[in-house]
Amino acid sequence: MQLLTHWIDGHACPAASGDALPVFNPTDGSQYAQVARGDAQDVEAAIRAAHRAFPAWSALRNSQRAGWLEKLAQALENHLEEFARAESLDGGKPYRLARDIEIPRAIANLRFFSHAATQFASQSHHGEAGLNYTLRVPLGVVATISPWNLPLYLFTWKIAPALAAGNTVVAKPSEVTPLTATMLGQLAAEIELPAGVLNIVHGRGDEAGQALVEHPQVRAVSFTGSTAVGRRIAAVAAPQLKKVSLELGGKNPTLVFADSDWRAQLPTLVRSAFQNAGQICLCGSRLLVEASIYQQFRDAFVARVAELRVGAPDDQYTDIGPLVSQAHFDKVSQCLRIAHDEGARVLLGGEPLDRNGWYIAPTVLEGLGPDCRSNREEIFGPVVTLQPFEDEAHALALANASDYGLAAMLWTSDLSRAHRLAARLNTGIVWINSWLLRDLRTPFGGSAASGLGREGGMEAMRFFTEARNVCLDIGEAQ
Ligand code: NAD
Repeated sequence: MQLLTHWIDGHACPAASGDALPVFNPTDGSQYAQVARGDAQDVEAAIRAAHRAFPAWSALRNSQRAGWLEKLAQALENHLEEFARAESLDGGKPYRLARDIEIPRAIANLRFFSHAATQFASQSHHGEAGLNYTLRVPLGVVATISPWNLPLYLFTWKIAPALAAGNTVVAKPSEVTPLTATMLGQLAAEIELPAGVLNIVHGRGDEAGQALVEHPQVRAVSFTGSTAVGRRIAAVAAPQLKKVSLELGGKNPTLVFADSDWRAQLPTLVRSAFQNAGQICLCGSRLLVEASIYQQFRDAFVARVAELRVGAPDDQYTDIGPLVSQAHFDKVSQCLRIAHDEGARVLLGGEPLDRNGWYIAPTVLEGLGPDCRSNREEIFGPVVTLQPFEDEAHALALANASDYGLAAMLWTSDLSRAHRLAARLNTGIVWINSWLLRDLRTPFGGSAASGLGREGGMEAMRFFTEARNVCLDIGEAQ
């Protein structure tokens, strides 16, 4: 059986312990590969390699680092379909989605930060006390830890700015979906990216991940994943005063006003709830609908969701594939039982599908208040709830009734209302009459239980650098 290896110091290698973890195909639950089960020994080897590579990599001109990222982007683009098939196999996501959106976005991430490397600049200040200029120096060895839902997309979203800013990286992909990161390690070796610049260590979070966060030579941790693990990472990093960036869970509200063009926008509204079987941190899982259109909206929405085709990821007509793992399937199934117990009215779905693989029927629920668990806890599956609201104030109160604060979607034709609400929604991202439109220059991230810090554009470049102010007395009158 295929062994997915680490990539350390430019070489593919198994775990030092010789152990491996099984990797499953979500379509039928069969094991299709195994992955190196990294631990503190592998992490140590990767950090040493990264440490050795740092002086030369950080001394390159920005345009040279940009060149390497562009080379990697090009190599990935040359293998787009192969990577899309791998991503689809590993995570159970529709091949179309991987080919048309996720792998292209991984390529775009590498390209974007290749350009960012040449555009990154720092400030200078004068006219008050001396001449000051700020250097933005790379940190050294940094760690990136990413989840299973958008495996290569989020993996590249982190390694690209870290490398562009002059750091060397030890990256830990999710043990649930390790395939495309391993393939990217192979591509990096093929283009002869200097050894040790990008190291990939696989393994469980509480083993390889924890060892990485604890290691004193890791100067920053960029993490995307669950809120529970994010809190744990923050607690480990804090005593070492290590920089952390945390992109965590969400329970995003979608506000639909009667004056919106909701009928024409139904395809986007459905996509915003169910893309990747709802396993996207930015999916809207709480649909808040103005009472005057509630019934019409509900019926039209449910009819549209009922048309979604649930099936094998490699079928070109499939809209929704299986969930990623047995553990996640069990979690979402449990959430559905909780919703039943809370008295939800099931308008569609509501249970696992009786077939091989980890399939859950697209589910629409109503009749649940803002305080119940189904409306407060992240489910991260193909499950949405509907709640009516009376007016703008009520809509805002329902939207903000959450411990999370990642994204909110707002559908209205009233521009003043849109801007008024955008300023008052407690989230890091607000989409007005749109969803998942992404300009990679904008700050990305959430507030409250959705995270700490922002990724994207120059925010990410700043995170992966230390600001050093240099002040010179140039003899001006004080
Ligand atoms: P997870 O927190 O279980 O795992 C994420 C990564 O952390 C994995 O690589 C895992 O191995 C590692 N990990 C686990 N325990 C660790 C520990 N103690 N120390 C260090 N690393 C550890 O999350 P998941 O189940 O893979 O992903 C789903 C979650 O990710 C959802 O909550 C989702 O909302 C969130 N997410 C957030 C964003 C965002 O941008 N805010 C994007 C995608 C996913």
